[in-house]
Amino acid sequence: MSTLLDGRTCLVTGASRGIGRGIAEELGRRGANVAVNYRSSEGEAYDVAETIEEEGGRAVPVQANVADLEAVERMHEQVQEAFGSVEVLVNNAGITVDRKFENMTREDWDRVVDVNLGGLFNCTKVCFEDIREAYEGRLINISSVVGQQGNYGQANYAATKSAMFGFTRTVALELAREGSTANCVAPGFVLTDMLKDVPERVQEGILERIPLERFAEVEDVVGVVRFVASEESSYMTGQVLGVNGGMEW
Ligand code: NAP
Repeated sequence: MSTLLDGRTCLVTGASRGIGRGIAEELGRRGANVAVNYRSSEGEAYDVAETIEEEGGRAVPVQANVADLEAVERMHEQVQEAFGSVEVLVNNAGITVDRKFENMTREDWDRVVDVNLGGLFNCTKVCFEDIREAYEGRLINISSVVGQQGNYGQANYAATKSAMFGFTRTVALELAREGSTANCVAPGFVLTDMLKDVPERVQEGILERIPLERFAEVEDVVGVVRFVASEESSYMTGQVLGVNGGMEW
């Protein structure tokens, strides 16, 4: 049975590792042509593309720092040359620079804002027309439960992740007339390199606050993103889907 994802051009940012890698591989399995964006992990990104091709899909690794608009424009051209217009954009690339607010410098703030929000703007900007013109285009932004609850030592990160809600809701309104959608997926705490940076003592504290009593696996988030990317989510736009083990509703 053919589905909406068959032959669709999908760009996943930050797809060399963690959640982005899982999303890219799954979209590839579902028949999409996947552009695997990375910033510096070249070997890993080529690995992801190779895995997708081995499983029968099509993929191309594309380097760009999402915070750099010119680099993002070049990446978009590369994707268009390889697979045509972008029909599904997953804004997944994100970083943390954690520090108590009293110790947080303007540089700590700017580093996180440049990638998490600058990248959101840049990638959505260059793909916006593609998504709007696509049959049921999809914009999927990976936020976080931290954008809903805040989190000690993450004022910069929390600010970027809650800003994604307002951005997504607004872009959803601007895409709606053409039948394309924009949604946020807001994971809880997921077992990736990002969580490894959190001290064990803090991890234990977080675990106590998760009703399902476990951290998320990448696959827990991937399943929800697959749903949002598919035809099954056609009537859902401007929403925030929490995947957080019951931490927030
Ligand atoms: P991760 O394992 O640290 O991987 C981050 C990915 O983003 C890597 O592929 C990295 O590429 C890429 N990246 C970072 N900065 C970039 C830039 N400037 N330009 C392009 N790519 C860049 O992170 P993750 O845990 O999978 O998180 C992915 C997303 O989910 C993030 O937006 C994060 O905020 C969100 N999230 C994560 C969790 C969690 O607990 N892990 C929870 C909620 C939300 P390189 O390898 O080339 O550096």
